[in-house]
Amino acid sequence: MVINLPQNIPIDYLFLPETESRQITLGILRLDVIHPEISGNKWFKLKENLSIAQANHQDIILTFGGAYSNHLSATAATTKALGLKAIGIVRGTEFQNNLNPTLQFCKDNGMELFFVSREAYKQKEQEEWLQLLSEQYNNPYIIPEGGNNAAGAKGTAQIVDFIPEDATHIITSVGSGTTLQGILNGVGGENYVVSDNTNYGGGFQSYKFVLGMAPMKGGKYLKENIQSPQKHWDIIDDFHFGGFGKYNDELIAFMNDFYTEHQIPLDVVYTAKMMYGVQQLLFENYFPEKSKIICIHTGGLQGNNSIKERLVFGG
Ligand SMILES: *Cc1c(COP(=O)(O)O)cnc(C)c1O
Repeated sequence: MVINLPQNIPIDYLFLPETESRQITLGILRLDVIHPEISGNKWFKLKENLSIAQANHQDIILTFGGAYSNHLSATAATTKALGLKAIGIVRGTEFQNNLNPTLQFCKDNGMELFFVSREAYKQKEQEEWLQLLSEQYNNPYIIPEGGNNAAGAKGTAQIVDFIPEDATHIITSVGSGTTLQGILNGVGGENYVVSDNTNYGGGFQSYKFVLGMAPMKGGKYLKENIQSPQKHWDIIDDFHFGGFGKYNDELIAFMNDFYTEHQIPLDVVYTAKMMYGVQQLLFENYFPEKSKIICIHTGGLQGNNSIKERLVFGG
C-alpha cells in the first residue's frame, strides 16, 4: 500500500432557504482538504494506480494531461512524496518555454515534462504509441489522462465509504465519468433502498440517486461510457457556462458569494458549476422533500490560478 486512506473526510452542511423550507439536508464532502497538494478525486484514482505500479516494481510513472491538468499536478506531488520518478506528456507546445503555474508546479515537484503537438497527443490511448513511450522511458507504469482507468474507478468507489449511509442523493462533477462510475460501483448494484424509510415519512420512496454534473456542452453523451445496472442515476449538462473551462462574471460572482457564505472555495472548472447547478435544481424543487444530499467536492483548486485575483479567497 503506497498511500493510505484518510481516517476521516469532513462534510460541511449548508443551510439555504430552499433546504430549510423543504427539510433537505445538503452536505459537501470535502475531498479538496485531503492533502494540500494531492487533493480531490485524483488522489483516489492515483492511490490504486500507484499501488499497482509498486506491486509491479515500476518506479517510473508516465502520464498525460493538458497544461492546466489537475491530474498532472496531483501526480507530480504524489510521486514526489513517494520517491517515484514522474514523466508528464503535455498536450500542446505553447507553454514549453514559458511554463504556466500548473506546469511549473509539476516541474518543481520533479516531474519531467515532454510537450507534444495536439495532433500527436491524440494517440494517447493507442497501443503503438504507448509501446513506443514504454521503450523510450524505460518501462514506466502508464496512467491514462486524468487517471481514467479501471484502477481509477476502483479508487473512486472508495469515496462512497465517506458518505453517510442515509444519503439519498450523491452528486459529483464529471469529466471523463470515471469518478461517477466509481461511485455507482461503490453504491452497489441496485442503488439500494435506504432501509429506515420511516425517517422520510409521506411515502417518499428513497434510494441513493447518483447525479453527475457535466461542466461541458453536451456532456450527457458521457452516459454511454458508464457501465451500470442501476436505474437511479443521471447526468445533467445544463450548467456548462459556454463549455469546458469557460466561465463568465456570473460564475465568478457565484464562487465569491459561495465562499463568503459558507467559507468553501470552489474551482472554476468543475465544482463551481456543480454547486451552481445544485442551487438551480433546489430552486426548481428537483429534489424531493427530506432529501439527504451529499455533493462531492472533487478538489481542483489549483486550476483557479489563472483567475485568483478575481476571487475573494485568492484562488
Ligand atoms: C478531474 C476532475 C473531475 C472529473 O473527474 P472524472 O473522473 O474524469 O469524471 C471532477 N472534478 C475535479 C476537480 C477534477 O479535477
